[in-house]
Amino acid sequence: MGIYDVTNSGGEKDTEKLNLLTSTQIVIHDALKKMGYNEEMYELLKEPLRMSYVRIPVRMDDGSTKIFNGFRAQHNDAVGPTMGGVRFHPQVTATEVKALSMWMSLKCGIADIPFGGGKGAILCNPRTMSFGELERLSRGFVRAISQIVGPTKDIPAPDMYTNSQIMAWMMDEYSRLRQYGSSGFITGKPLVLGGSEGREKAGAKGVTICIEEAAKKRGINLKGARVIVQGFGNAGSYVAKFMHDAGAIVVGVSDVYGALYNPDGLNINYLLDRRDSFGTVTTLFEGTITNRELLEQECDVLVPAAISNQITEKNAHNIRARIVVEAANGPTSLEATKILTERGILLVPDVLAGAGGVTVSYFEWVQNKQGFYWSEEEVDVKLRNKLVKSFHDIYQLAQDHNVNMRLAAYMIGVRKIAEASLFRGWV
Ligand code: NAD
Repeated sequence: MGIYDVTNSGGEKDTEKLNLLTSTQIVIHDALKKMGYNEEMYELLKEPLRMSYVRIPVRMDDGSTKIFNGFRAQHNDAVGPTMGGVRFHPQVTATEVKALSMWMSLKCGIADIPFGGGKGAILCNPRTMSFGELERLSRGFVRAISQIVGPTKDIPAPDMYTNSQIMAWMMDEYSRLRQYGSSGFITGKPLVLGGSEGREKAGAKGVTICIEEAAKKRGINLKGARVIVQGFGNAGSYVAKFMHDAGAIVVGVSDVYGALYNPDGLNINYLLDRRDSFGTVTTLFEGTITNRELLEQECDVLVPAAISNQITEKNAHNIRARIVVEAANGPTSLEATKILTERGILLVPDVLAGAGGVTVSYFEWVQNKQGFYWSEEEVDVKLRNKLVKSFHDIYQLAQDHNVNMRLAAYMIGVRKIAEASLFRGWV
């Protein structure tokens, strides 16, 4: 068995999700090795310290009871409590949740947040459930994990198909169980319950800050730069809007059904108005191209903001962007990362570009703790300060060690938890 063996990761057959964990383990291993850590440190960090499996009985609207399966992964709490979203999804797997908790640890390390990574999920299809069923499921999940979470233990947040209403129910359930108000138990809450200004757009703002810094490194003026964004959901549509507002020409966007491309620029405000809540907009138009064709169009900045595994060794040679900034999780394979880097394309990896969300989650937790709230401008300035520094630290490390940006980001991301684990005497 190799060091990247994942047979004890849930016994799943989903190759893509196993690959997600395996490729994360490969880069963590390389990063630790580069920094002189031994195999024992890798053994500690290659999977979460704790993985909880829960079963949640929910009374459905028709009077029947349905049992839902859920997970909570806590990767490493050497630096501080773990933090990370809870997703509701019909195909989510334990392996995926483990990998996502590890990415959260990396993002916390990169943004210099005193937390480790966590992630949770419930196997369900929220689109087919009523408001009442979703509330009972959310509350049931909190009861099931209440012993292992808390404002100083593990802090959940929104993720795919969960939102501020679900965070509000979860916070209320936790507060009832503990018999005191516990706003710091969860982030991504509505403002009136202690949410932070700027939380909703924080992910896309983080991506935008990385685009700006990467553009400076490549001498690209964003005013007039051609930008392509794959995916027009929460992440992609806001990134397209921020780029448009910065004077860039957004020449291409896409959704699951196809892509719109116009070398003279698309009317982003119109597309934002017309997109539905699932990020679909291309079905309103004729003459669309495929997602694959869109990725290969010439542009200055390419932002994959849809799903994983979009740039692989099969199409990496055809990418004609000067900068690729990963808004989605895992859109570029390790082989493609190598090819793009060798071709001189600056790749800003997901663990850096996607660190905006967790950074503002941390800000929300800090504001809850101090009971004093910041304006959106204050949140934006603090976010910018953190991510600009992270970008430059990673860029410099990549130059100094002659490694790609992904490996440099993992080196910085894993450094604090490795050091803290060492000081605690765990390795
Ligand atoms: P979303 O569900 O709101 O939107 C997803 C978009 O991708 C939609 O436009 C959808 O049509 C499109 N899509 C789905 N499958 C596709 C396919 N096979 N090919 C092309 N397009 C496809 O999701 P979201 O919240 O925007 O998240 C998108 C990605 O970005 C995810 O990987 C998510 O984890 C990540 N994310 C990143 C940030 C960040 O700050 N970087 C923030 C939130 C989400």
